[in-house]
Amino acid sequence: MTDKILLKIAEEFGTPVYVYDAESIKMQYEKLTSSFHKSTRFFYAAKALTNINILKYIKNLGANLDCVSINEVKLGLKAGFSNDKILFTPNCVDLKEIEEAMALKVHINIDNISILEQFGNKFGNSYPIFVRINPHIYAGGNHKISTGHIDSKFGISIHQLRHIERVMKSTNLLVEGLHMHTGSEIKDADVFLQGLEIMFELAEHFPDLKYVDMGSGFKVPYQDGDLETDVKALGRKVEKALTDYHKETGRKFQLWFEPGKYLVSTSGHFVVKSNVIKQTTATVFVGINSGFNHLIRPMFYDSYHIIENLSNPKGAERIYTVVGNICETDTFAWDRKLHEVREGDILVFRNAGAYGFEMSSNFNSRLKPAEVLYLDGKAHLIRKREEFDDLLKNQIEVI
Ligand SMILES: *Cc1c(COP(=O)(O)O)cnc(C)c1O
Repeated sequence: MTDKILLKIAEEFGTPVYVYDAESIKMQYEKLTSSFHKSTRFFYAAKALTNINILKYIKNLGANLDCVSINEVKLGLKAGFSNDKILFTPNCVDLKEIEEAMALKVHINIDNISILEQFGNKFGNSYPIFVRINPHIYAGGNHKISTGHIDSKFGISIHQLRHIERVMKSTNLLVEGLHMHTGSEIKDADVFLQGLEIMFELAEHFPDLKYVDMGSGFKVPYQDGDLETDVKALGRKVEKALTDYHKETGRKFQLWFEPGKYLVSTSGHFVVKSNVIKQTTATVFVGINSGFNHLIRPMFYDSYHIIENLSNPKGAERIYTVVGNICETDTFAWDRKLHEVREGDILVFRNAGAYGFEMSSNFNSRLKPAEVLYLDGKAHLIRKREEFDDLLKNQIEVI
């Protein structure tokens, strides 16, 4: 999808608008799946981007689905994923939500001893489950997206293995899968291998184990010089580790992964308009018609998104600080070199597919943007821009 097409989409559907290029999702999916043994299963982590059309598109590519809430499970079923292709990996939910997932017959991943016990007492071995392990590996781009370290709320600590075993023994639990997800944006792929070795050691304690789910953390580059996880090399190393393990023990597991960002990040282009150029004593600000209510990653994770001026691509380069229109500091980029930005110019944020629209809100009573899917050479509106009435939709006037 070219920048010319993006400009046309901005003209037709207005800004701000999230535009997703289907072809890019397909490319990323194929790059990933072709790097691993064909028995490997990939569960798209829905939380990165849940528009029903994206879910359907990814389902049609052949992927499975990883869901962190019961509503994501329902969305997945609505998108056409069969229940055996859905894994429910919630965190800190009550048994009721787990039971709802049972009723929908999806794979269930339990991440704390309390629920494990409640589940075992009530259902015994009548419904096989996964156990989410916290391996205490520090991995991931920054503290907020790291989930496997010792202070993390995710998973059951490997040091509690004896406790898990006791629950299994006393309740007859059937554990068919082990899961770990150590964080997002893992730069060093050996973290996965380290994790896999831990899984092999744990496997001794789980006689019914069929699946080993290594979660995600596949990294995509956000700026020049950034790394992308070398999935080809990882695939080879993982394959070797599994073969060696098989030779040593005679056991075989199906390997699962849960890529979110890797599949949808690069597909997304967040297109906005420059409202105001504001020269202060120290800085030239570009004030755009969006804010962290639409794209929170820069403020929340200090993340970097490439920004480009689509409507003045040949203008002289100048240094700008790009900010939003929210009444709270919402800086998207400091001291960024952009082709001269004039009021009314159309700018784009790259790599906005993952955790972009999905984390948007109505802060400042601003409306959520539209979403457009570019598929087979055509732009399709896949979510209407919100309207004023949407702000009041669930409010009840009592005064
Ligand atoms: C968020 C999440 C993922 C996806 O992580 P990415 O970095 O987007 O690939 C996978 N599995 C679980 C359990 C998650 O919570």
